[in-house]
Amino acid sequence: MKALVKSRPEPGLWMEYVPVPEPGPKDVLIKVTKSAICGTDVHIWKWDEFSAKTVPVPMVVGHEFVGEIADTGSAATRYKIGQRVSGEGHIVCGTCRNCRAGRGQLCRNTKGVGVNRPGSFAEYVCIPEMNVVPIPEDVPDEIAAIFDPFGNAVHTALSFDLVGEDVLVTGAGPIGIMGALVAQKVGARKVVITDINPYRLDLARRMGVQHVVDVSKEQLSDVMARIDMHEGFDVGLEMSGAAAAMQQMISRMNNGGKIALLGIAPTEFAVDWNAIIFKMLHVKGIYGREMFETWYKMIALVQSGLDVSGLITHRIGIDDFEAGFEAMISGNSGKVVMDWNA
Ligand code: NAD
Ligand code: ZN
Repeated sequence: MKALVKSRPEPGLWMEYVPVPEPGPKDVLIKVTKSAICGTDVHIWKWDEFSAKTVPVPMVVGHEFVGEIADTGSAATRYKIGQRVSGEGHIVCGTCRNCRAGRGQLCRNTKGVGVNRPGSFAEYVCIPEMNVVPIPEDVPDEIAAIFDPFGNAVHTALSFDLVGEDVLVTGAGPIGIMGALVAQKVGARKVVITDINPYRLDLARRMGVQHVVDVSKEQLSDVMARIDMHEGFDVGLEMSGAAAAMQQMISRMNNGGKIALLGIAPTEFAVDWNAIIFKMLHVKGIYGREMFETWYKMIALVQSGLDVSGLITHRIGIDDFEAGFEAMISGNSGKVVMDWNA
């Protein structure tokens, strides 16, 4: 089959022919129809420090996908051939303490599809039946293809009660914008998103985020005063991984505020711990999605009218993957969805 492979420890990805994966007894084989590019794939493309440390070469990359069941292992009986599915890309061990307590998202032995095991930039991807998520008929393919990052946004945003709360989202990447839209949908009072990239700020405005702030041009405190916010934010969703954004968030939280951290910082940085202490903040790290509560919730959010399709700015055939990565690397894109049948 055709697959995008990290076949050499250097920048780039290469379209190659590799064997179709063989499903084990409890696995399913999925024929991929659409696959989206994640920031992690860009890190792997660039072959930065994180990738060189984490990804064994050769590796079929990619983990955001939708497809159809093509084959099932002898003990995998829940899904029918041809059924439309996506899947949770974190494969958990099932035997550690957290897994056995039903908290798979906290597994200490998580393996990532397209990171530690073959991924979805391929004609076929193989995952455990347990990880499959069936896609209802009224959810379009391209939305199902971005459920993985949408799930990051939903899990982060729904970490804390948002009803009537003032919410700061730092980073208007696809995940930050989705997080802001979820906050608005579930009844936050004021939602403010920040970024420094004009394309992303514009995308947030077009998607209907309430207050969009270019923090390279405007003081967040001025904006807060203008929109009648005189105390501070109740909830912060850190979606940039930028030190400056995290520092700004801490400084703008109200006492007792709650922060969920999704953004991954490229290097360690200092934070004002005393501000966290004296403001009595709650800080929660987020990795992945809840298994499988996040999937139920995000499907319900889509079915109840939350439309994130405007975040897909590039729809391309798989053979144009280089253009897709170029768009992602430039920062002038939302989600890039690649079609395996185009
Ligand atoms: P992205 O890189 O597309 O978006 C990040 C945005 O932050 C960019 O638009 C950038 O311009 C902006 N930014 C940079 N400096 C800023 C500042 N000082 N203030 C405000 N914004 C600033 O990323 P994404 O795909 O939307 O993902 C969001 C973050 O979540 C990334 O850091 C990504 O690595 C991380 N992530 C984490 C998980 C997890 O499980 N924890 C999963 C997926 C993604
Ligand atoms: Zn486990």
